Amino acid sequence: MSLNLNLIPEYKTAADFFRAHDNLLLLVHEKPDGDALGSVLGAAHLLQKLGKTVTLVNDDPIPDKFRFLPMADRFKLPEEVEGKFDNVIAFDCGDKRRLGRSGALVADGANLLNVDHHVTNDRFGTENLVDLDAAATCQIVFKIAHQLGLELDCDTATCLYTGLLTDTGGFRYSNTTEEVLLIAANLLKKGVAPYNIVDRVMETMTWPQVLLIRAALDTLGRDESGRIAWITITREMIESAGGCDEDVEGLVNYPRNVEGVEVGISFREAAPGKVKVSFRSKHVVDVGAIALEFGGGGHARAAGCTMDGDVDAVKEKVLARVREVTAQPEAGAGA
Ligand code: 5GP
Ligand code: MN
Repeated sequence: MSLNLNLIPEYKTAADFFRAHDNLLLLVHEKPDGDALGSVLGAAHLLQKLGKTVTLVNDDPIPDKFRFLPMADRFKLPEEVEGKFDNVIAFDCGDKRRLGRSGALVADGANLLNVDHHVTNDRFGTENLVDLDAAATCQIVFKIAHQLGLELDCDTATCLYTGLLTDTGGFRYSNTTEEVLLIAANLLKKGVAPYNIVDRVMETMTWPQVLLIRAALDTLGRDESGRIAWITITREMIESAGGCDEDVEGLVNYPRNVEGVEVGISFREAAPGKVKVSFRSKHVVDVGAIALEFGGGGHARAAGCTMDGDVDAVKEKVLARVREVTAQPEAGAGA
């Protein structure tokens, strides 16, 4: 299969970084998702192939559904790691704050490579490979392997396929390009079991997750125009379903998928006085820009932020801004 990959010059920077340094700390954003874990673990396999020693750290425990990923058992909490690191690579992370407590393990003056695909990325690395055309950071890691001339084994391919799958919503979102599908096909050739992965990470739901869907749908709201819809998830709802924060992931697609809706939003009470807001848009509204205004970030069609205040206050503030943006003619209002 011929792979005509678009390798911007920063791929060489990243490949050189992989080759040049050893004893590397590998980081991803807190509350890691399939792309964060797939990309960092895929890269960990590549670095091991190059004979490097890697340390994997995250603020949060790895979600059960991703524990099958080869080397996922190597993750440590920042408190379990001694000293600071002079050579660090961050994956799928738009800014340093998103590294959480783990960011404190980066030594002053460290060589820091930032590998990411978020449009809101602030280039926090000493070297940066930010490929905005990539659907997933896993796609970028695949291209780094290509730049390095490394063959992928099945374990590495499994990690990379997982992030490609989750960040494209199962190859359905608008970021699903020809290159994404070519890479996916290439990964299958390495022995990836696609049904096995999609079943574990996208299809299978825990019982609390389904209970939470039932409760969340009861809160579904829509504005007069029918172009904005939202759901609300309180701590009490999560607790009475016997679930956890991770179970809320994906619920924002219910309001987003309603016919006529341009922007879907979920409001999750993260802690008393803290609300996690997730935005999804369908065609025109740049929700990454809205999330950025509220101190978060993300992509044009999927973004998020965490805000201070109770759920009602945050909802009022966010909906007012989303209404304003969605009513603008360039947002397709009146069309
Ligand atoms: P989700 O709504 O699923 O948590 O996140 C959707 C997208 O927005 C992801 O690409 C994620 O990285 C980004 N995102 C979510 N929350 C934040 C945040 O607080 N800050 C930044 N910079 N990005 C976020
Ligand atoms: Mn990603």
